[in-house]
Amino acid sequence: MKITDLKCAVIGGSPVVRLVTDEGIDGWGQVETPKPYLAPVVMMLKPALIGQDPTNVERVMRRIRNRGGFKPWGSGVSAVEMALWDLAGKAAGLPVHKLLGGKVRDRVRTYRTFYHAPDITHSPDDYVTWARAAKEMPEKFTMFKLPTSFHSSMVTQVPEYFYGDVLVSEPYYHYAHRGLMTERGMNHLVACIEAAKEELGPEYGLALDCGPGWLQPDALRFARAVEHLHLLWIEDMITGDYVPFTNADVYREVTANTTTPIHTGEQIYLRQNFKSLIEGHAVNIVGPDPCDVGGIAELKWVAEYADLHGILIAPHGTGNGIFGLAALVQVCATLPDNYIAFEFPARFEPWWYDITEGFVNSPVHDGHIAVGDRPGMGVEFIVDKASAYLSEEDQDFFF
Ligand SMILES: [Mg+2]
Repeated sequence: MKITDLKCAVIGGSPVVRLVTDEGIDGWGQVETPKPYLAPVVMMLKPALIGQDPTNVERVMRRIRNRGGFKPWGSGVSAVEMALWDLAGKAAGLPVHKLLGGKVRDRVRTYRTFYHAPDITHSPDDYVTWARAAKEMPEKFTMFKLPTSFHSSMVTQVPEYFYGDVLVSEPYYHYAHRGLMTERGMNHLVACIEAAKEELGPEYGLALDCGPGWLQPDALRFARAVEHLHLLWIEDMITGDYVPFTNADVYREVTANTTTPIHTGEQIYLRQNFKSLIEGHAVNIVGPDPCDVGGIAELKWVAEYADLHGILIAPHGTGNGIFGLAALVQVCATLPDNYIAFEFPARFEPWWYDITEGFVNSPVHDGHIAVGDRPGMGVEFIVDKASAYLSEEDQDFFF
């Protein structure tokens, strides 16, 4: 089999990759939903792919792996890797998890990052409201992640939250605030988290997405202040979302001195960039995203290496779309016992279920997704329905 074309269309804000072959089967991959600007980055890979046999996944990856970087620049390489596995699976008539060594679980746990309703403020009372709404979700998730502190508008809503300047105009970067917290800010944050966890109760796991933006003394002070709450983890305090480095030594200062699990890794590209975090025991949990780390085989390698070092894994995935969801299910079915749960890609419109086959509506039941046995990744476009969502310039995407 040979790759004859690479196409990329932006559908619902999400660059979707189509690898076309001379045997009439297609491979699908997807870049995170809020990143339509990456379509040209995907297309830059085309000359390296034409004429290659997609079933030799690693051989093809060696041609393009140097064309990525930390989030968002590894997205194109990662989406193509998923499309290669999709083709390899379809060519073999097997689900991708079989090609990765087979599934070790028949259903995978997924957690839900639950965003605040627009009228919710960062107060203890509203965090109780947040927790109540989370528990009422029909998918019956068992774990939730709460965006808070420097990873939320708490920084701008709570007066004198930290000692740095609050940017009033549109910041140049999502997480532009960073600095030492005030005692008042710290006490307010702890009160909010206590309120949310008390409402959730011990039946539900709670993780916090917190940064980046913290300085090390505050990060440790906060992790210790919430030790009694049995949190799943605190994510990305020191470095994280869109930060092009890891600062493993600073993380280790926090992780080694608290019982609250510390998590990072969603922005990291390639296994090599997890080396100092894992070998240095700088965090308790890593969170690579298959759409950013370099693909699903890369994520599996990170999971295995983490397990050797007593480190857990909870993959990131909030913007990964329906093809990213399929990839997460396939790879997470194969991970060792250090696997906790992956982040459900909640940020896509329900019409994606109508223009594809593979998942029927939301596939989450009791906080888990069953691992399917369709060939490849298991999701296929219904072309006559999906065509309605193509923009003017992408009209030839399916042809
Ligand atoms: Mg995060």
